[in-house]
Amino acid sequence: MKKIIVAIDGPAASGKSSTARRLARSLGYVYIDSGAMYRACALAAIRAQLDIYNTTEILHMLSLTDIRLEQSEAGNKVILNGEDVSEAIRSEEISRLASDISAIPIVRDRMVELQRQMALEGGVVMDGRDIGTVVFPQAEVKFFMIADVCERAKRRFKELQDKGIEADIEIVLSELRTRDENDTNRKVAPLKPAPDSILIDTSHLSLDEQVAILRQHIKQRVERQ
Ligand code: C5P
Repeated sequence: MKKIIVAIDGPAASGKSSTARRLARSLGYVYIDSGAMYRACALAAIRAQLDIYNTTEILHMLSLTDIRLEQSEAGNKVILNGEDVSEAIRSEEISRLASDISAIPIVRDRMVELQRQMALEGGVVMDGRDIGTVVFPQAEVKFFMIADVCERAKRRFKELQDKGIEADIEIVLSELRTRDENDTNRKVAPLKPAPDSILIDTSHLSLDEQVAILRQHIKQRVERQ
């Protein structure tokens, strides 16, 4: 079967990452978590104590920042300047700053360039907010995953609990809403479905069901080509 690009976009905690990771494994494809790259940028900015709205400082930071994604059982290992920051980028502080920093055009230009380089050979499942609209408008199959915001908050809350992190579900819900709003209303590469994307509502679907549905769509699309 031809190795294609599968783009998966959608709001936070809609099930993109777990589905994309499993889907990539089942197809023998590479999984690329584009959100992790914006998170790594946010961590680099915090560590350098940057004013993210100062273009000179951001350009300087980007020129010194090496971000790599390595495939691992748990998804992507995120390597920032040689250091494994996979855990460090998952805090709520980084989630907030990643959403702010990802609205800055020069940051997006650099990340999109890296994302395209990573997928040069095809055989990639990439998830994010603008993969089907901006990064790979030519992707053979595009999905837009959504889920009810309360369901998404429950999932994120459970993830935090499983990691032993104390959380308040109301705060998790309000942070998700704020991030959705930022990601949807920003000027550059806002979160929106590509016109040719397949909408998947995961509110009542298990992970196995999500993967099976996506695989079915991919099979149909590839057979049609
Ligand atoms: O996917 P994740 O929630 O880890 O992404 C963190 C943040 O990075 C998002 O809230 C969004 O602002 C940004 N992002 C983006 N474009 C992408 C992936 C993530 O703007 N392709």
